[in-house]
Amino acid sequence: MPKRPNKDAAELIPDRPTISSVRDAAKNCQACDLYKRGTQTVFGEGARKARLMLVGEQPGDAEDLAGQPFVGPAGKLLDRALVEAGIDRAAVYVTNVVKHFKWEPRGKRRIHKKPSAGEIAACRPWLDTEIALVKPRAIVCLGATAAQSLLGRQFKVTAHRGELIASTLAPIMLATVHPSSILRAPDDETRRTEMKRSTDALRKVARALEKS
Ligand code: SF4
Repeated sequence: MPKRPNKDAAELIPDRPTISSVRDAAKNCQACDLYKRGTQTVFGEGARKARLMLVGEQPGDAEDLAGQPFVGPAGKLLDRALVEAGIDRAAVYVTNVVKHFKWEPRGKRRIHKKPSAGEIAACRPWLDTEIALVKPRAIVCLGATAAQSLLGRQFKVTAHRGELIASTLAPIMLATVHPSSILRAPDDETRRTEMKRSTDALRKVARALEKS
């Protein structure tokens, strides 16, 4: 069996981690093959002691090029939802369960490809460290990949979207759809409805945070 060339991500985490030292360490991660495909590691960013952490699936095309999470079209939609929910994005920490962009070519475009269970597991030490350092009071999972990664593989966003869920990871936990799925809605009316549901979910988290 060929020797596995890549280190586990956990081995790269510094002894006394801070968000910036962990972000630096993640730049050199080769714990799964996605480092070969993406332009760069896209680590989480935001307030170091944010009370709210948003977790998506993986960076997209724009994020891969910018090196920042949620800066593309889905990020802009998320920004709008946060504004409508009265949440200041600068006070939030945003990240993804997988830190490299997985894609496949279609003509000249790079099309998002869902990360595998192995890639999600390989990347998990980075997310666990972000959660341990930021210690958010609330975590919102954006989409099924994030929700199943943090809440278990049986978790269904379609069944529990917008509900407050018990978790050991944070006192307040909720899952909603990924903003990219709202962008893919088949028509304007569906898009408006989906956006309202996501904004309502964020409002619910904001209210729970106020009380906590
Ligand atoms: S996706 Fe995660 S585990 Fe894989 S190389 Fe990138 S940072 Fe490392």
